[in-house]
Amino acid sequence: MREQLQVDRIRCDGHALCAELLPEVIALDDWGYPIVKAGTIAPALLEHARQAVAACPVLALTLAQRLEG
Ligand code: SF4
Repeated sequence: MREQLQVDRIRCDGHALCAELLPEVIALDDWGYPIVKAGTIAPALLEHARQAVAACPVLALTLAQRLEG
């Protein structure tokens, strides 16, 4: 099992905290909204990914389980 980041685009307000905490996986578009790199999170980045999820002020970021990736 690996984990993948997902953004709820309805909830997301473009605060950009997630991209600051996890630039290896999250970029920002021209309007400051996150673009999540495809695929699952490398084990070495998982703790940073969890911190990014916890830091999102509107709970728009989640980690979902994936069978592989
Ligand atoms: S921290 Fe949350 S609200 Fe801000 S850009 Fe990331 S997902 Fe969106």
